[in-house]
Amino acid sequence: MTTSIPLPLTQFVVKMHSRCDLACDHCYVYEHADSSWRSRPKVIADGILAKAAERIGEHAAVHRLPAVRVVLHGGEPLLAGPDRLRRAAEALRAALPAGCSLDLRIHTNGVLLSREFCALFAESDIKVGISLDGDKAANDRHRRFADGRSSHPQVLRAVALLNEPEYRHLFAGLLCTMDVDNDPVAVYRALAELRPPAVDFLLPHATWDEPPKRPAALGATPYADWLLTVHRLWETDGRPFAVRTFESVHRTLRGLSSLTESLGLEPSDLAVLETDGTFEQADSLKTAYDGAPATGMNVFAHSIDDLARHPGIVARQSGLAGLSEACRACSVVRSCGGGLYAHRYRSDDGAGSFDHPSVYCGDLMTFVNGLAGSAASVTVPAQAGADPLSGTLTPAQLDELAAGYGSADTIAALGRSQLALTRAMLAAAWDASGQGRAEAWALLAELDAAAPAAVDAVFAHPYARAWAARRLAGDLPVGLGPLAALAAAAAVRAGRGDAVAVPVRGGWLHLPTLGRIAMPDGEAVVTGRADGFEVRAADGSVHTVLDEPLRRVRLAGGWTVVLEDTDPLRDSHDHPVADRLSNGELLNWTGALREAWELLGRDLPGYADGIRAGLSTVTPLRPGPAGRDISSAARQAYGAVGIARPATAPTLALLLAHEFQHVKLGAVLDLTDLYDRTDTTLYFAPWRPDPRPLEGLLQGTYAHLAVTEYWGTRTLAYDGLPGGAADRAREQFALWRRYTAEAVERLSASGALTGTGVRFADGMRATVTPWLAVPLPAAAEQAADRVRRERAGV
Ligand code: SF4
Repeated sequence: MTTSIPLPLTQFVVKMHSRCDLACDHCYVYEHADSSWRSRPKVIADGILAKAAERIGEHAAVHRLPAVRVVLHGGEPLLAGPDRLRRAAEALRAALPAGCSLDLRIHTNGVLLSREFCALFAESDIKVGISLDGDKAANDRHRRFADGRSSHPQVLRAVALLNEPEYRHLFAGLLCTMDVDNDPVAVYRALAELRPPAVDFLLPHATWDEPPKRPAALGATPYADWLLTVHRLWETDGRPFAVRTFESVHRTLRGLSSLTESLGLEPSDLAVLETDGTFEQADSLKTAYDGAPATGMNVFAHSIDDLARHPGIVARQSGLAGLSEACRACSVVRSCGGGLYAHRYRSDDGAGSFDHPSVYCGDLMTFVNGLAGSAASVTVPAQAGADPLSGTLTPAQLDELAAGYGSADTIAALGRSQLALTRAMLAAAWDASGQGRAEAWALLAELDAAAPAAVDAVFAHPYARAWAARRLAGDLPVGLGPLAALAAAAAVRAGRGDAVAVPVRGGWLHLPTLGRIAMPDGEAVVTGRADGFEVRAADGSVHTVLDEPLRRVRLAGGWTVVLEDTDPLRDSHDHPVADRLSNGELLNWTGALREAWELLGRDLPGYADGIRAGLSTVTPLRPGPAGRDISSAARQAYGAVGIARPATAPTLALLLAHEFQHVKLGAVLDLTDLYDRTDTTLYFAPWRPDPRPLEGLLQGTYAHLAVTEYWGTRTLAYDGLPGGAADRAREQFALWRRYTAEAVERLSASGALTGTGVRFADGMRATVTPWLAVPLPAAAEQAADRVRRERAGV
């Protein structure tokens, strides 16, 4: 046995039971080439489970894995019974080393799912995936009992159980095996109605020996057409649930990793344990030939490192180099990856091999190109050839951000990538809205070639993308007025004499990044001139000045920030926005921002350059009840923060720093996955009573890095000095350094962080740890303890 260090395996499928209570005729376990199930014990023995847990724990320790995923599988795993499933969960948890978390799941047909099982899954933290092929007709095409009865009612009952509030957090999603004879619209609608957190659409397993059915009436690429139809519905609905197949193509088109083994070039890290203790390769290989998944290894004689060195597993880890010549030369290979390994098999080339494109090659190419085409159509033409990765972060920049900071160059890189994303989203919104206002879109395309700075300026406006995101999510009407307004603002900025019609609503014509003009509702024609603009209103009146121009505050160092109080889309912050600022209020804001900026330079010097490079817009919000501080960063409005002007400049400085952390992290999350987006677990942040999804905990932790540093700097500035302000700084520092450190550990222990996410959490930890060693008076620690106890309700 070779002693080379293998790539670690992090996903394990454990067969709990080798038989099934359904007799689906498309099942790869019983109906395809491999027949090994016949000789296997029905149920896995406790001794095998214990040894498997030990092997996985040992592998996690040797490779210092932060998390492993184990899927309890079958046959039908519920046939193993609740006691054995409980023992499996206990054995696995007990065997993992400290610092390695377990993502434990079960994939079931749902027929036997009961409250007893759900209670066990809640107690043992086991997420549940259910197989369901769509509406009743689609499901009943294959998923029946041996006597021909439909399984549909039982499966719907299982999904309803998982949708009960008590169990909803256990619901991992639905697995839908496609059949091109099923109506994709009916399938999509039926699945969406069940409110799943995720749906996997799976191609039926097939090889060149046993090709998939292709009804003549459905054309040459029926599987691609089916998926593209579902994709269109999913986009139109605003992506109501995660779909790994679609997201993987979207991601790989942007140079990111795939989320599924069946697409992309990521190395496979999965192994299977059968009920008799033998190790196998991916289950899908059962479709290739009898014995195809076999490794000749078992849990008693072989370690998982031994298994990871098996040639079959290594073959699925060699990326581009492991593909057929045709795939290596293919234009979509980075997204397709040659398709699922099993689907490449053909026996008529001598010994039989996987050195072929997928049997779904034509469908995969059409599907990837279809999604790439929709991405290209969403790009303003002159930018179509631009490098979409031009804004990608280097590892050093990511580390810089992970530590909480971010230089001007790093924030500029984030800004470039955000601009590229805004372009794509605007065009997707245009597409999803029926490609209306074609003259406005054409003008944007033309200006993008002739006056790109003008187009970039309006596309960089934070609420341009906010509109696209809200439109795509279905939160706004289909109208394309905001897009026409962007074209008009670009035309004004370009000053070339271009004209465009813009709808006027609510008595104002709004020109993003410029301001607004009062006029009657209707259609106005905006013409950009070299010396300004001319707007002809619906009533024939002509306007050449803005009634309410956007106002900028010039700050020390010569940079400016917009006080956005005219854009109707500024209401993207989940808090009511302030009306147009009076002159007096404008003066108050100007003074407060200037003072806050000076404080940021003094108290958060590591953050100030990044804020200056990325903060373009402050949107005044309405004050909170009883003077409570209100601030917000909208996930889809890069560069903007919403703030109700607080009573003091130091508080404004703190709110600006806090919210800009959210802005930065949102942009990082658009570029790279820091956590598993399919994770549905809720996590408690130490400072909040309510649990939140992982991104909420991550965002809060990242924001409080800046908050902690702010109070730490002020604590050091007050060193030895008495007084209320000094005491408050020490108490706040004592409180937030502990909260932030605890939150970093919760993130690390979540098991939901990706490798990059683990590195990001390590970066945050490296910043917060030295603060914990700063000596503070006992009174400050006691005050922090008091607050923690009060918030914890003890
Ligand atoms: S589309 Fe076909 S040739 Fe291209 S990578 Fe996929 S399977 Fe290979």
